[in-house]
Amino acid sequence: SAFQDLGLNPDLLAAVERAGYTTPTPVQARAIPVVLEGRNLVASAQTGTGKTAAFVLPILQRLRRHRPGAAPRALILEPTRELAVQVEEVIQDLGRDHDLTATVLHGGVGLGRQRDALAAGSDIVISTTGRLLDLLERKLIDLSGIEVLVLDEVDRMLDMGFIPDIKTIVPHCPRRRQTLFFSATLPKAIERVAKFAVHNPARIVV
Ligand code: AMP
Repeated sequence: SAFQDLGLNPDLLAAVERAGYTTPTPVQARAIPVVLEGRNLVASAQTGTGKTAAFVLPILQRLRRHRPGAAPRALILEPTRELAVQVEEVIQDLGRDHDLTATVLHGGVGLGRQRDALAAGSDIVISTTGRLLDLLERKLIDLSGIEVLVLDEVDRMLDMGFIPDIKTIVPHCPRRRQTLFFSATLPKAIERVAKFAVHNPARIVV
């Protein structure tokens, strides 16, 4: 299939073209229409399959415009700082025509600038689990406005011991939300996390 067939708006088709993507990858072709419908998703997809754009494009389309002063509306959780930064770069690249604001949060740096960025209004937050827990405990972030929650690379979160963090963070998001869950593999321990975090998902195995 072609990007034109997936339900993306013209501005995002232009962004995809500008990024040099000519054909959707399998996970993009299957996930984007489902996510644009608002459905929850559990997908097994490795790094390198194009899964980042598979969730970033529908999030940009859903949020559309910056909402001044609003709490974050999309939360993307990543196991590492490097992945969080990479996802933010994809959002900046594909979202260049949008006025949406994105903030990346991770440990190893002071809280000050991250707190200021949140206070100024961030539509999209990309974070490692540890820093997000820290900000929640300090009441510096409000997740009550989250419309879309992405749990990315959950198999790595499991390996790194971050599932308890996930179990603490997820209930801070509204029950009525869209949840997108990505993992390279889906063994039983991962399926248990999916069951905890994702209600009635569409499933994609690539
Ligand atoms: P990801 O699996 O999301 O980490 O993406 C892996 C790489 O594939 C990134 O460098 C993307 O820029 C690139 N990419 C994503 N989607 C496409 C596509 N449809 N066509 C060509 N490259 C892509």
